[in-house]
Amino acid sequence: MPLAVPPPRKRLGQHFLIDPNITRKIVALAAIRPEETVLEIGPGRGVLTRPLCTAARQVIALELDPKLGAYLAEVLADCRNLDLRLGDALEFPYETLPRGTVVVANLPYYVSTPLLFTLLEARERIDRMVLMLQTEVARRLVAKPATNDYGILSILVQYAAEASLAFQVSTSCFRPRPEVGSAVVTLVMRRPPVQVNDETLFARVVRAAFAHRRKTLSNSLRDEGVSSEQVAQALAQVGISPSRRAETLTIEEFASLADALGQVRA
Ligand code: SAM
Repeated sequence: MPLAVPPPRKRLGQHFLIDPNITRKIVALAAIRPEETVLEIGPGRGVLTRPLCTAARQVIALELDPKLGAYLAEVLADCRNLDLRLGDALEFPYETLPRGTVVVANLPYYVSTPLLFTLLEARERIDRMVLMLQTEVARRLVAKPATNDYGILSILVQYAAEASLAFQVSTSCFRPRPEVGSAVVTLVMRRPPVQVNDETLFARVVRAAFAHRRKTLSNSLRDEGVSSEQVAQALAQVGISPSRRAETLTIEEFASLADALGQVRA
C-alpha cells in the first residue's frame, strides 16, 4: 500500500507549493544544465525535486522531517539521480558539494536568515541560488543604501552575489497558506565588488554598525568594543562622518572602514 502523505508540520515551516506554474517558473529560473548538481533544501513533498531531477545530473535533496523523507523515498523511487538525505541544512557539510552546485529551495521561513548566512559561508561551492523567501527577507536581500530594508543581510549578500528579486508568489499558491507573502530571488555568486583585507572583520564591522540602528556609526562601533579614538581615526582616514548612520553606508564604504579599523587596531 502506498504511504499516506504526512500532514504538514507548521513548526518546520511546511507550507507546500501547490501551483504548478510557480514550480515551473522556479525550475526555469534556475536554468539548470544537464551536467550540473543541484542541492535542494527542504524538498517537502517533492514538487520541485522531480523536475529538478529531470534537468540536472544529480540532485541532493536535504529534508529535516523523517516522515517526509520516508514519503519522498517512495514517491521519487524512480528518480535515479536523486540523492535523498535526512538532516538539518544548518549542519550540512557544504564542503562536500561539487564546485558549481546550484541551490534551489522553497526555504522554511522560520530558519531562512541563519540558512542564508550558512549558504553564504559555503559560497565557494555554489554557482547560483534560486530561493523562495518571505517577501520581507527577499526585499532585504536586494535593498539599496538609505532604505528601510537595507541592513546586514543586504550588505553580506550583495558582497557575495548579484541579487535580484524575480517574482512575488501569492499565499494561495501554498497549502497550508502562510501568513506572510513570498518572493523568489536569484543570487548569482560573483567576485566581490570591493576588495577587503579581512572578510571576517568586514562582517563584524557591518554587524556592529547595525546592532543599534538608531545610533550614529561612531556610537555603534564604540559599543562593540572599539575605542573612541580608534573609531574616530578610522572614520577620519576614510572620510566618513561619525554622525552618519549605518544604513547610509555603501558596501564600498563599509569595506574601506573595515580596512581602516583593521589598520588602526594593528
Ligand atoms: N520544497 C517543498 C515545496 O516547495 O512544496 C517544501 C517547502 S517547505 C516551505 C520547507 C521544507 O523544509 C519542509 O519540507 C521542511 O520539513 C523542510 N525543513 C525545515 N527545516 C529544515 C532544515 N533545518 N533543514 C532541512 N529541511 C528543513
